[in-house]
Amino acid sequence: MVGAGLTGLWTAYYLLEADPRLRVVVLEAETAGFGASGRNGGWCSALFPAGLAKLAGLPGSDRDRALAQHRAMRDTVDEVLRVASSEGIDAQARKGGTVVVARSAAQLGSARAEVAEARRWGRGEDDLRLLDATEARRRLDAVGTVGGTFTPDCASIHPARLVRGLARAVERRGGTIHEQTRALALEPRLVRTDRGTVRADVVVRATEGYTPALDGQRRAVAPVYSLVVATAPLPHAVWDAIGLGERETFSDHRHLIVYGQRTADDRLVFGGRGAPYHFGSRTRPEFDREPRVFARLRATATEMLPALAGAEWTHAWGGALGIPRDWCASVGLDRTTGLAWAGGYVGDGVSTTNLAGRTLRDLVLGHDTDLTTLPWVGHRSRRWEPEPLRWLGVNAGLRAMTAADLEERVTRRPSRLARAMAPLVGGH
Ligand SMILES: Cc1cc2nc3c(=O)[nH]c(=O)nc-3n(C[C@H](O)[C@H](O)[C@H](O)COP(=O)(O)OP(=O)(O)OC[C@H]3O[C@@H](n4cnc5c(N)ncnc54)[C@H](O)[C@@H]3O)c2cc1C
Repeated sequence: MVGAGLTGLWTAYYLLEADPRLRVVVLEAETAGFGASGRNGGWCSALFPAGLAKLAGLPGSDRDRALAQHRAMRDTVDEVLRVASSEGIDAQARKGGTVVVARSAAQLGSARAEVAEARRWGRGEDDLRLLDATEARRRLDAVGTVGGTFTPDCASIHPARLVRGLARAVERRGGTIHEQTRALALEPRLVRTDRGTVRADVVVRATEGYTPALDGQRRAVAPVYSLVVATAPLPHAVWDAIGLGERETFSDHRHLIVYGQRTADDRLVFGGRGAPYHFGSRTRPEFDREPRVFARLRATATEMLPALAGAEWTHAWGGALGIPRDWCASVGLDRTTGLAWAGGYVGDGVSTTNLAGRTLRDLVLGHDTDLTTLPWVGHRSRRWEPEPLRWLGVNAGLRAMTAADLEERVTRRPSRLARAMAPLVGGH
């Protein structure tokens, strides 16, 4: 495994669980959990970055297979919680679902359209349902809420606790994690690192947003930064005004994604995209911190939830997630070279990495299972354009989503710009 994030660690975990005699080595450039897995927004959800229509349209796929993938994602939320519990990982998890509030007529239109689309796929009320204003406000009393949607399929988790706990579980089962060991090139049955060469029957690329730095992988995914801020633990009176009594994860139906959760120790964590994509798919520690974006996130959270006025904001961080050109995550193993991969999760990797780990276990062990026939298995997105087209395209997409939100605020109608840009910026 190259990369000790959730992809590499779940894969190592399930392989060792299935066959303790396997020799499993995880190579990590920094420390286990250093990447997105240790610093995400803590939504362990059933979301998959490509919608059902896109999954059904993949070669060899159809409506039933797309729905099978959706069911697998729903089950995965419980599987993550099951392993955390059985391995004694205190990820401070609570499965409170997700509430996405609609805060304008245009956003309510998006909420209704999403539920109508779910029904066309046979997804029932137990999966996704429309909330009226009262129900939505009972869950999250955001300014201007006129309705919303709710799904039970999400748990709030503490990301660093989950990934560090999983690393320890891998070691307990006999896996070896070599930290401070950077892979330079992945070749058939061989990894060249800055500390020597590793030979293995199977080499799993689990480097997500950092993949472009590997030899020959420059255009595999575009690293896009997501930034997060968090408050000090908030008093009960503030939570009485905000809601989230079941620690629901939350968002609203705007285009440029914002997301939040209430932590086990009563902090509010709030994140969003909006930081620029960096030319040449570069990732640097200083890109994690954009004071302008942090300030905007704090202002947006307080505008949504005025009870936060006066709250102390104690933490701010960020990290790179990986976006494939067609916004469709994938997992696979090329048997002739022994090269395997999983990634391209965009902002939905906390649970999807677990599905990837179990799928890679079955592929590596040569077992044909329900998991190995899911539509994302073996899928390959086409590569991103060379620079400067990639820089222009990704940043235009990010700006268009901000402009679409502004357009809706001004016109009070669903954005035409968002519809026009949808093919470029993906499903959600
Ligand atoms: C700020 C933020 C918020 C997010 N919020 C959510 C959320 O709420 N819910 C959700 O589902 N998803 C969220 N995501 C996405 C999710 O965190 C990722 O999709 C997921 O963690 C990816 O896991 P991974 O193991 O594939 O990659 P990573 O966790 O990035 O791990 C890759 C690892 O590979 C190592 N590495 C890289 N290059 C090399 C090399 N050459 N040699 C050796 N090691 C290398 C890195 O150091 C890193 O540890 C968020 C992401 C970010 C950045």
